[in-house]
Amino acid sequence: MTQATAAMNQLSDRINNMQESATIKMAKMSRELKAQGKDIIDLSLGEPDFDTPQHIKDAAKEAIDKGFTKYTPVPGYPELRKAIVTKLKRDNNLDYTIDEIVVSTGAKQSIANVVMALINPGDEVLLPAPYWVSYAAIAELAEGKCVEIPTGIESNFKVTAEQLEKHITENTKMIIFSSPCNPTGSVYSREELAAIAKVVAKHPNLYVLCDEIYEYINFTGEKHTSLAEFAEVKEQVITVNGFSKGFAMTGWRLGYIGAPKWIASACDKMQGQITSGTCSIAQKAGEAALLTSLQPTFDMVTEFKKRRDLVYGLLTEIPGLKVNLPDGAFYFFFDVSAYFGKSFNGKAMNTPEDLSLFLLAEGNLACVSGEAFGDKNCLRISYATSEAKLTEACKRMKEALAKLA
Ligand code: PMP
Ligand code: GLU
Repeated sequence: MTQATAAMNQLSDRINNMQESATIKMAKMSRELKAQGKDIIDLSLGEPDFDTPQHIKDAAKEAIDKGFTKYTPVPGYPELRKAIVTKLKRDNNLDYTIDEIVVSTGAKQSIANVVMALINPGDEVLLPAPYWVSYAAIAELAEGKCVEIPTGIESNFKVTAEQLEKHITENTKMIIFSSPCNPTGSVYSREELAAIAKVVAKHPNLYVLCDEIYEYINFTGEKHTSLAEFAEVKEQVITVNGFSKGFAMTGWRLGYIGAPKWIASACDKMQGQITSGTCSIAQKAGEAALLTSLQPTFDMVTEFKKRRDLVYGLLTEIPGLKVNLPDGAFYFFFDVSAYFGKSFNGKAMNTPEDLSLFLLAEGNLACVSGEAFGDKNCLRISYATSEAKLTEACKRMKEALAKLA
């Protein structure tokens, strides 16, 4: 028995059965290759390349100077929760009270809190696929049974209300989805969400976790719609949001939910035993982000849109790829199945994972395989990086793929 196998035997089944986050794994691999001196372009991790706006950083500095350095209430400072209530009314026309808000160490923890608080072993969790990697891992940690609802590039990777309804059984407890969507960039329209709300309302014991972390990064020109705006489902919806994407604050670790009070209280209880309130300084920065000018956010979005258009032009020039124009977030999720069956140096490409490893080795380009998102045909790239890097990345992809025969 190797030392590694012996150690695995000591670990819990829970951790042995858990998949490592594919986004984080790919980012780690490319960091290691960079450290070895390789010129890798890393489009794996979805993280804005912009700096956190100055006025937000200033608020954090002030928080330190004013002594906001102690434990905070577990669900967050009342001032921050009040700012979130104001934001949810201002941007989303949602009425929440302060005790329906729980602030966490990133939206990732918010999602984990909600799933742990609501899912019992065997409960079915519906995941319109492709979905963000951590939804499935978190649901499985809670011993839920993930049920994927497949979509395709032809339908812009969106699930219809009818498809959703067909998958609901008496064991279905939760639906988890994001709009704008990671990994596809798709945005559900108000009409599509209205139809989904009608279906959900028919099942009062069904809960919907709506991940709106990409809310501001929306190029449709239409106002973002939250599912919780539909009164018939408000009591069944948990709205998840955060600061990582819209305010370029990934490292600050700040996310939140708006939810019916009994769910918020359960998340508060869960968090009280695991992490307590998130960083006091980050909370003060978050308050400033929500209550002051959103102009830096809008400027970032303008830049993302320029990059999206650039990358769309470049990807559509690569033979064999099927590419949709994403409406939001900062990802392209494109179909590479035309390359399945082709080979390089005797190694056949049969999956997106094969292609992502080939692109890393032969093209010095890191992207994430669709399999981690519940899709067998696509690769994901993040375009949250400079135009120069994006242009070079697409060139590398085109040249590497052309080597496959
Ligand atoms: N949801 C989605 C769809 C995401 O892409 C991310 C980014 N990691 C998160 C949640 C978590 O964000 P964070 O924990 O950084 O707030
Ligand atoms: N949301 C980002 C992504 O999907 C960050 C990585 C992560 O937290 O998984 O790449």
